[in-house]
Amino acid sequence: MSHAVPHLSSSAAPSAAERVLTLVDLGGEVLRINPAQALDMATQAEQLCQEHGLARLRLPVLSLLAESQYRLGHYLEARANLNTLLSLGPDQPLAVKSLNLLGHVQRRLGEHRSAIQHYNQALELAHRLDDKNQEFTALNGLAGTYFSLFDYQGAAELYLHCLGLAQGQGNADAEGTALGNLGAVYLEQGDLTRALELFQKGLEISVRLGNQQREAVLRNNLGFTHYRLDAHQSSLEYSQQALELAQKLRDRRTEASALGNLALTYFALGQYDTALELNKRALEIERELHNRHTEADLLVQIGRIWLEKRSYEMAQSTLEEALQVAQSGGNRKAHTEVHLYLSEVWQHKGQFALALQQHRLYHELTVATLREQIERKTLALLIRFQAEQALQQAEIVRLRNVELVAANEALEQLNREKSQLLARLEELVRTDPLTQLYNRGYLEEQLERLFQQSRQEQWPLSVALIDLDHFKGINDTYSHQAGDLVLKTTATLFRETLPEAEIIARYGGEEFAIVFPQTAAAEAAAACERLRQRIEAHDWSFIHPDLVVTVSIGVSDAPAAPNHEKLLMAADQYLYDAKRRRRNQVCFGS
Ligand code: GH3
Ligand code: MG
Ligand code: MG
Repeated sequence: MSHAVPHLSSSAAPSAAERVLTLVDLGGEVLRINPAQALDMATQAEQLCQEHGLARLRLPVLSLLAESQYRLGHYLEARANLNTLLSLGPDQPLAVKSLNLLGHVQRRLGEHRSAIQHYNQALELAHRLDDKNQEFTALNGLAGTYFSLFDYQGAAELYLHCLGLAQGQGNADAEGTALGNLGAVYLEQGDLTRALELFQKGLEISVRLGNQQREAVLRNNLGFTHYRLDAHQSSLEYSQQALELAQKLRDRRTEASALGNLALTYFALGQYDTALELNKRALEIERELHNRHTEADLLVQIGRIWLEKRSYEMAQSTLEEALQVAQSGGNRKAHTEVHLYLSEVWQHKGQFALALQQHRLYHELTVATLREQIERKTLALLIRFQAEQALQQAEIVRLRNVELVAANEALEQLNREKSQLLARLEELVRTDPLTQLYNRGYLEEQLERLFQQSRQEQWPLSVALIDLDHFKGINDTYSHQAGDLVLKTTATLFRETLPEAEIIARYGGEEFAIVFPQTAAAEAAAACERLRQRIEAHDWSFIHPDLVVTVSIGVSDAPAAPNHEKLLMAADQYLYDAKRRRRNQVCFGS
């Protein structure tokens, strides 16, 4: 890479400009192997620019600065420099690259929505500039973001798109990347044979092209996949090859990962001392790299080994350390596992109360993680909708030039996908995420419609409002997670008890509403009484042995009510009566 020396104002010393350009060039070359040195060079160049007023050279300098900061994990600094760069300049090729890099940075910071936005912008700009490499990077980044959001289908689709792009261009290197990433999606989904196939293909390409960096990564992935398939011998072979290659290339990250994979296999083979030794070496590297996330995983593994070796004191102290690291490094999975293994430690020590306590924490975290995954999936769906639109924009740009027919077909396909997405979104908009019942907005909409129909056609319309009794106490005594589980289970019991009811909604926090068309209050109240009994009789001990759940219900058909709001208010009045009369009952009237 080299930059042409721009025309310089006479006040600037030419040698300073040349030095800046040399620093940027050299920095770009060492970036991959030694980002710290690249950062040094970029910082020097930045100083020179300031001292000598070389404003126009600031763009490539900022770019180098940001990229080395990104590689060193200084995400906030990288983000600041990228934003400055983007605000400065009309240099579009640099802008595409910076938008992509900003996407990577946001992803590392856990800001998935902004990451998607920046990748989408990069994608559009890359199209306009016909820059296939950056287009690939943007698509690849988008796919990676979906992957982090557990949207494996979305990720797979985009990686396939990347694959097509790479093949269309005859870019074998990019093809290798796409194959490897696609393999990782299948691995995550547990489709091990497909993963194996893709990694293998990617490996062949990397070897053919002499891309040793990727070869090491793919051998390592193959090692892990074979471990998951219980093919211990092949697993050891691939991981060992990955290890040696990574050491040769000084790729510390892959080296540590290969050591960890070897340890897993030796652990599975019952060779605990070897596994311990390997994990310790991996741990040392991850600590050097300040990678707290993986450090926590490794400490958990080491704790497990001590547990198998019946060294309970060592197991305990290692797991306690793992707990700290997992918490500070935001590693939810390790955090959860620690409690499971600590529970085993206490069990072996005969401390059953402490074991139970740890097990409870384990359970609570598992439930919380599941909930978070569902929330992330919802977010992914919304984000995907935006991304599909951006892709479609990009597709329109392409359409102007080539292959009208083929592009039209692609567009139609996208449109079909978009309407499917819209349908899914509509469903999301009217669904309460926790209970999967309708939400209040949808209830009011439907109730208003039914109310008008009932008055026109002169049939009775009843509404029931249901409120969980002493629910605050349930949260306070058994945890908020337990409270959530009660809400979900209650919703399921409602649906089971009243399968014919069309509209059951979550009205508010722990309040629900059911609409009974063509039904007078007394009849609706009878149905609600069955509901009340069902909740009271339900076996709640799976949440906690002492847990008791009851509901109070108010039902009304309010024939004189002028609108649906007044009908709801009438039901609320009877709910209030039920609460006043010591709860756990149905009150109704007209
Ligand atoms: P009452 O029998 O009089 O209805 O007493 P209560 O404790 O049920 O009523 P209150 O209105 O004082 O408390 C309702 C509680 O419901 C307070 C709030 O923290 C809790 N809550 C609301 N939404 C949720 C939720 O989504 N999950 C959980 N776990 N709790 C919620
Ligand atoms: Mg309430
Ligand atoms: Mg309540």
